[in-house]
Amino acid sequence: MKYQSTRDSQLRVSASEAIVRGLAPQSGLFVPEAFPKADLDAWKHLSYPELAQKVLAGYLTDYSLDFLKQATESTYGSAFGGKAGFTTRLHEGLYALELWHGPTCAFKDYALQLMPKLLVEAKHNLGRTETTRILVATSGDTGKAALAGYAGLDGIEISVFYPNAGTSEIQRLQMVTQQGDNVQVYAVEGNFDDAQTGVKRVFADASVAEELENRNIRLSSANSINWGRLVPQIVYYFYAYFRLAEQGEVAWGEPVDFCVPTGNFGDILAGYYAKQMGLPVGKLVCASNKNNVLTDFIRTGTYDARRTFYKTTSPSMDILISSNLERLLFHVSGSSEKVAGWMQDLAQTGMYTVDAETLARIQENFAAGFASDEEGAAEIQTRFAEDCYLCDTHTAVAFRVAESCRSAAPMIVLSTASPFKFPRDVLAALGTQAPESDFAAMAALTEKTGAEAPRSLQELNGLPVRFTTVIQPEEIRAAALR
Ligand SMILES: *Cc1c(COP(=O)(O)O)cnc(C)c1O
Repeated sequence: MKYQSTRDSQLRVSASEAIVRGLAPQSGLFVPEAFPKADLDAWKHLSYPELAQKVLAGYLTDYSLDFLKQATESTYGSAFGGKAGFTTRLHEGLYALELWHGPTCAFKDYALQLMPKLLVEAKHNLGRTETTRILVATSGDTGKAALAGYAGLDGIEISVFYPNAGTSEIQRLQMVTQQGDNVQVYAVEGNFDDAQTGVKRVFADASVAEELENRNIRLSSANSINWGRLVPQIVYYFYAYFRLAEQGEVAWGEPVDFCVPTGNFGDILAGYYAKQMGLPVGKLVCASNKNNVLTDFIRTGTYDARRTFYKTTSPSMDILISSNLERLLFHVSGSSEKVAGWMQDLAQTGMYTVDAETLARIQENFAAGFASDEEGAAEIQTRFAEDCYLCDTHTAVAFRVAESCRSAAPMIVLSTASPFKFPRDVLAALGTQAPESDFAAMAALTEKTGAEAPRSLQELNGLPVRFTTVIQPEEIRAAALR
């Protein structure tokens, strides 16, 4: 399998090269030139690590099967407490795919516990010996998941940039208490888009690459623009389907819908890959919060980022530029020229409109909706009252949107974070005045619901804070060069 750029039809690279490079030239994204076919009958009884090995083998064709077997087993075994791909029924036709049983309690662990191994192996495959310096812009959850995945790895350094005051207290503490000699964490004045734009600019800056090359350092990305981030996420769509089929909740071969709380469009795009590989998927429902640029785009074909940026109670979805949408545009339009044009429009004018055929293809596969903070809070309350199901603020947005986009097919909502990552907002949604501190709120949430907070979150209380630097977006370049 070769990879091409969304903005350049001439380029072809191996999977290892796509993962080491992160971003293609001219800010394009690497995409596979074909979709490997799934063997549903052969895959349906596999364990999570075995299934992951099959899915990855179709895409990462220059990695050895031995390596993939060992990497998936060591990633998805005990680290997820035996709950990798855990899917549970709320009521007839409505299910939650709980993706937060990994070490940092958000779905990003699925990719970021595996991707460091993919990167180290890719360098090995390519005979590369330089130091890899990873830059990550995060709206909260990616930062910690990446730090946890890369800390202490030989030949790798990682710097994380998060929006100052743009994350929950728990999210911030998870990052600034990270151990390891090869990690750096910076708060950036501004919102997530400011941090992400600043990091993208560094990647596009040839003078940075040149200076680092003299020091035998090469930049790479752990954001979901890296193919190594996306490919592990395809697995759980299959796994959830197989479990529902096994439990008789869906007839074998009949479609299911998925509803995905969406920010950078990485998680839901993995569902699109699963569908293209042959998984019976009806609609992929894109759920947004008040930052509903994707809802408007999927409904109208016009992507217009010239709008107010809202800080919401689902901060990991507070995004106006959803990077991975570019990959979908490439797959449905089949044209790197068109994609390059739209992305140029976006950079120059803040908006673009796709042609009718491209929009029709998107609407064949995707539906969209959004929910306000108040609607999300009401949903947390309803799911707890009616189904005894406790969900976080991001997942609540998806439950709410899922209701308005239901078809006759079973609906699987991707539950992307532990409710204990956002304990104050969840508690408030349940009608209890939340205490100031996240830790007091965690305890109160346990008292109210009987649910146990994950140990890794409880243990944050009292860990030493290692990183306190606040920088301006313009200073990201200097930080990347330190
Ligand atoms: C990152 C994140 C999302 C959004 O996922 P994308 O792949 O960026 O669309 C949703 N919920 C949570 C809890 C997240 O951490």
